[in-house]
Amino acid sequence: MPTLNCPNCNQQFTTPFETPQVQCPHCGATVNNPAAPQPQAAPQYAQPAAQGGPFDAGPSGKSRGVFGLLAILLGVFGVHYFYVGKAMPGVVFLLVFLLGFILCGIPSAAVSVCALIQGIMAFVKTQDQFEATFVNTPKSFPLF
Ligand SMILES: [Zn+2]
Repeated sequence: MPTLNCPNCNQQFTTPFETPQVQCPHCGATVNNPAAPQPQAAPQYAQPAAQGGPFDAGPSGKSRGVFGLLAILLGVFGVHYFYVGKAMPGVVFLLVFLLGFILCGIPSAAVSVCALIQGIMAFVKTQDQFEATFVNTPKSFPLF
């Protein structure tokens, strides 16, 4: 039994441990019992960096799932670059693909493979990694 000191009348009294608040038997004042288990605040779990599904928009507003699908399906046209606001590499991919297709198949095959890898990477990476690589990068031509 912990001994409490009533702040109101300065009398000491004992109280069971469990009661968070007790009435002073001398003056009737309500006294907090520091020995009682404190009510548990809702546990604050450290929020892991919001890691939603691949199609959830990240902080940049860009979804790596959309980027990945665009890269896999339409990547040779540079569409995935346009999606993340990198127009220059988008145009380069488009031109390389079109010119490469006309001249010979090798350059267009190169951009196809590039875009395919980028699309897969978008699904493998976390949203943070994705944005760092393709969206918020200072590089004007982010490849991987
Ligand atoms: Zn009292």
